[in-house]
Amino acid sequence: MSPVAHAEEGKWTPQQVLQIDAGWLKKQGLQLPVSRLWDPARGTGLLAATVALPGCSGAFVSASGLILTNHHCLFSLIQEHSRPDRDLITNGFIAHSREEELPGKTTRITVPRKFTDVTKQVEAAVPAGADDLARTRAIDAKQKALVAECEKTPGNRCNVAAFDGGLQYTLMEGLELTDVRLVYAPPRAIGEFGGEPDNFRWPRHVGDFSMARAYKDGKPYRPEFFFPISRNGVKPGDFVMLLGYPGRTFRSFTGEEMSNEREFRFKLTQEIYGEWINILEGVKTADGAIAVAAMLKSLNNSHTNAEGQLAGLARGSLIEKQKANDEAVLAWAAGKPAYAGALASKRELDRIAEERRKTAVRDYLLSIIPAGSVALKHATQLARLAGERVKTDAAREPGYQERDWARLKAGLERDQKSFYAPADEALLASWLARARKANIAGAQGAAAAPLLRATKVTDLNERLKMFDETLAQLRARQDPLLDLAFALAPDFREWRTSLEAREGAFARLRPEWRKAVIAHAGKPVAPDANSTLRVSFAHVKGYSPRDGVLYTPQTTLAGMIEKHTGEEPFAVPSFILDAAKNARADQIPLNFMSDADTTGGNSGSPVVNGRGELVGLNFDRPWENVANDFGYNPAVARNISVDIRFLLWLWEDVQKADFVLRELGLKR
Ligand code: ASP
Repeated sequence: MSPVAHAEEGKWTPQQVLQIDAGWLKKQGLQLPVSRLWDPARGTGLLAATVALPGCSGAFVSASGLILTNHHCLFSLIQEHSRPDRDLITNGFIAHSREEELPGKTTRITVPRKFTDVTKQVEAAVPAGADDLARTRAIDAKQKALVAECEKTPGNRCNVAAFDGGLQYTLMEGLELTDVRLVYAPPRAIGEFGGEPDNFRWPRHVGDFSMARAYKDGKPYRPEFFFPISRNGVKPGDFVMLLGYPGRTFRSFTGEEMSNEREFRFKLTQEIYGEWINILEGVKTADGAIAVAAMLKSLNNSHTNAEGQLAGLARGSLIEKQKANDEAVLAWAAGKPAYAGALASKRELDRIAEERRKTAVRDYLLSIIPAGSVALKHATQLARLAGERVKTDAAREPGYQERDWARLKAGLERDQKSFYAPADEALLASWLARARKANIAGAQGAAAAPLLRATKVTDLNERLKMFDETLAQLRARQDPLLDLAFALAPDFREWRTSLEAREGAFARLRPEWRKAVIAHAGKPVAPDANSTLRVSFAHVKGYSPRDGVLYTPQTTLAGMIEKHTGEEPFAVPSFILDAAKNARADQIPLNFMSDADTTGGNSGSPVVNGRGELVGLNFDRPWENVANDFGYNPAVARNISVDIRFLLWLWEDVQKADFVLRELGLKR
């Protein structure tokens, strides 16, 4: 992959990092040999100090399993332990000993162990002449077999990740640690300072970090690699490297497919989540507000993100540009026998994109059930689990295999903390009204209030009993919410079958098309994000958001205090205001920007210097860069991190978090 002149663009896989010109990396500022980052023979290296949390990333920072990540990534663990009389969300939390650390029912991390290219095995599993549905099923069966084999190793959690819709398949082997305990959380007024008005914005002034510890067999986990903390910090122009698990991007999509994402993902999210946010913001009781806090936060984040995507798509004319690029690839490939398949593939991809529009609203509504009414989510999970249980394990849907049961059950239990009946009723009513309008057959005639009044699904003990019951037993209960879930089952089945057929078509078409696109680009192209470990190379750098305005790349505590109004979310806690009086607030770094290529899921990503020392934790992107999920624009491609020196100031000078400081070797 040489010479790589534009490796700033790209969320590179570990394998790709090894192919990047070492001289170029050195010139950028990397002081470690690349082999320290990743040793392909062992399938590990310093990169393995980067762990995955559901929807987030994190970093080992001690030999005894301490993990730093974002405040928003551990928010539901904080919420799990909050009560009106012991409100950790508002007050924060500091453990002063290991005994005080707080376990979470569903918090877990995965430590990467090994990645293996299994493309040939997966492709070979597809029988000749298979149609699209059969292709998906064959690929699926092969993936499950590879995963089952991989998970014979105790502690392993594995999955097969598809890159760019099947251009490559990699078996990702990880060690899953399910005992993760809260060690530190700042008060919400620090961890979420600026709230939604500042979310996806610059300049930023938020201490979005928190700390947990991973345990294995009841003892602190001892990782092979961890990132030492740098006291030196960063300055404009410095090289940084960002490691993490970016979730999902759309850059390998055709223009037609991108347009579907705009219409049927982001516009619908903007509309529906907007309505749900209004519902949850109406909750005023203290216990209700704690119960809905995590859901509200995550809906808000997705909603603001959707608005940023829509604004960015329009501002950069990204879909029009993609369509033009598609045309350019087609013109370039025409007449080249090697790419004849690409032309036919593109035509078919367009046809599928067109067809998808017919059921897109229904598909979206079914897909967002887990984000809304907790009761409906549980009912559909229970009905589905009972339906899947009767099958052999290999035939069960992903997410409902035996390997998933403990996780499902823990979720059913943990969610009790997030259930607040009045809010849930309104969310359910909203979903049902939309589902009826979208002609979802199973939703016709159902009404939220009577369903919730009569159901036992919302009772924790009953729900846990239901978890072990057969389909016949669940039906015999004649529970109206379960009956709704059973009525929705055919809608789900239809949706999933069409999804499988589409995926089978993509596996056939996408690689052909992408090969032409990449050859036409004439440079290495990083695959779309798919929640697998990636690396991005960057420098600390500001940008110009619009004509006449220049953003500098660093903020300080002084800026946080300047934003202080006393009203949430701009209320700096009084102990910070007091501490700031005795300090030069403009000398205490708070947030910084760099030009790393990131997306959602990169939250909590370690940001390290050229020596592999931790200088920050990524938590966001600025507004002009939200739509980078569709295309990279070097002029605005920035990510936002919390500066590790803010955390050190807080722990050393203000909160005296000696227990963690000692373990980090920062205090004797
Ligand atoms: N704040 C982000 C998130 O929602 C990170 C990002 O999108 O850049 O995960």
